Amino acid sequence: MRIVLLGAPGSGKGTQSKLLIEKYNIPQISTGDLLRAAVAAGSDLGRKAKAAMDAGQLVSDDVVLGMIQERLSKPDARAGFILDGFPRNIPQAQALDAMLARLSQPLQLALLVDVDTEVLMKRLTGRRTCSNASCGAIYNIYFSAPKAPGKCDKCGSILAHRSDDNENTVRSRLQVYEQQTAPLVSYYKAQGKLRTVRGTGSVNEIFKNVTDIIEVQMRPLAAAMSAAQAAAAKSAPPKPAKPAKAPAKAAAKPAAKPAAKKPAAKKPAAKKPAPKKKPAPKPKKKAVKKAAPKKAKKAAPKKKSAPKAKKKK
Ligand SMILES: [Zn+2]
Repeated sequence: MRIVLLGAPGSGKGTQSKLLIEKYNIPQISTGDLLRAAVAAGSDLGRKAKAAMDAGQLVSDDVVLGMIQERLSKPDARAGFILDGFPRNIPQAQALDAMLARLSQPLQLALLVDVDTEVLMKRLTGRRTCSNASCGAIYNIYFSAPKAPGKCDKCGSILAHRSDDNENTVRSRLQVYEQQTAPLVSYYKAQGKLRTVRGTGSVNEIFKNVTDIIEVQMRPLAAAMSAAQAAAAKSAPPKPAKPAKAPAKAAAKPAAKPAAKKPAAKKPAAKKPAPKKKPAPKPKKKAVKKAAPKKAKKAAPKKKSAPKAKKKK
């Protein structure tokens, strides 16, 4: 699957990304790593990037996209990838979409790991690290405080507070993130690709929600494809000439319902007191094999997903 990960500093998206890499066996593509590797390798793009960085300039989107494209051509990215840290703005998102379209590998999902700003503040400003380098234990004064304030539980050394973890610095970092990400969230929402997972709770709980989202996002495609294949495999019986479309639509709704136990026939029967005419379209419904099963299968997973997705928002 091809995913863009969105999430604030402190959202835990890095942890989720690692778990995704393991579960789905796809690489995470980080532009920072790509730049370092390209510069070290001295490739064409690497030399361009180095020239820009040496001149104190930002590496252009073209160069970064070129590196991403090169990376995508490697065999381990065949099954998909996780993009983290790119795109950061709409022009980059558009250029990425254009590039992926040329490769016939469009993004399937933009996953936002959402955490309230005040929780992020506590996660980031509350961090304390054991100053004993050989220990390196990490605490959070709000969520996992040491037993004695300022002292490491394990080795008794003083706990250090990084200067860039102070409240003002963190708040402005989060504001920058908000300003960058809000337009991207809208962009992917408009494409119908945005899904949001709450980034609070245990790592495993969050990951369960992440994988649920991914499965739902991927399966409708698989379901639609297998339905199409099944329909193609069956020799299609002669279709009824005109009324084909109307019964097909009618059939789609009841077909999705059996789980809800409601006998599909009841409603129409009650509304229209024409019992003689009803039986006629029924056999036609069965004849219209292509349309009916497709809609039914598509509808099923969507229904399941809808309430879940809402809960997390
Ligand atoms: Zn320690």
